Amino acid sequence: MKHAFNLTGKVAVVTGGTRGIGQGIALGLADAGANIVLLQRSTDTNTQEKIKRLGVRCEIVQCDLENLDEVKQAIPKAIEAMGSVDILVNNAGIQRRSPAVDFSEQDWDDVLTVNLKSVWLLCQQAGRHMLEKNSGKIINIASLVSFQGGVYVPAYASAKGAVGQLTKALANEWSSKGINVNAIVPGYIATEMNTALIEDPVRSRQILERIPTGRWGNPEDFKGPAVFLASDASNYVHGHLLAVDGGWLGR
Ligand code: NAP
Repeated sequence: MKHAFNLTGKVAVVTGGTRGIGQGIALGLADAGANIVLLQRSTDTNTQEKIKRLGVRCEIVQCDLENLDEVKQAIPKAIEAMGSVDILVNNAGIQRRSPAVDFSEQDWDDVLTVNLKSVWLLCQQAGRHMLEKNSGKIINIASLVSFQGGVYVPAYASAKGAVGQLTKALANEWSSKGINVNAIVPGYIATEMNTALIEDPVRSRQILERIPTGRWGNPEDFKGPAVFLASDASNYVHGHLLAVDGGWLGR
């Protein structure tokens, strides 16, 4: 079984790996042997340095996911840098919170662009490349609000609901062609995205009380699930939304 989880020689593209869940996933894939392309908007080398210390290659391809021209060039640039792309992790995401009646059109467009349209375009580009070699793994990062409505997050819930459906739609098309498309569903994870919730003592307590494991998740919790979905160990797993939520959805 060790071989089934081994990613030596594979190339994984990870969006939003500068911190949080994406950094945890990138480090997990690198620890399993994958070379990593970090698709990120900044020149920050913090994650790149951590990955290189694990003994694999790591290149940064700069890409602002709000800029769709840059998004369309991203996978070709990654292929140019590494020769191939075997794994795509669409992790980057943004959050905007507001009651629906006050939610601005700009916030709606920003969230839908980063959390859905860029995901679709990267899946499409990577899919074209993976179809040529009849092999590939795509992991999208969905959310509890792929199933639930959330509170004050209408754009985010709409985008993440669609990410779940996009995952299944692409799996239906590509599963017979050697490509696995699946999603990870994070529960409540202690990252910058949740600063507002963590700092709100009432919401923070309410959330914690509802998590069966009794703790918030952390980026380390995503290493194993990501390696599983990126590796041969999951070859017959298609269109699945894998909750990594401390039991939240089952409660
Ligand atoms: P985070 O700590 O806020 O990190 C977000 C990442 O996305 C950062 O690397 C950020 O890069 C990148 N990003 C944002 N906008 C970008 C853009 N326009 N172009 C390129 N990169 C961009 O968030 P997180 O909690 O780790 O979330 C990661 C994923 O998990 C997201 O899809 C999120 O929706 C999902 N998720 C999180 C939770 C949770 O509880 N935390 C729950 C469910 C789902 P910069 O460093 O450049 O800002």
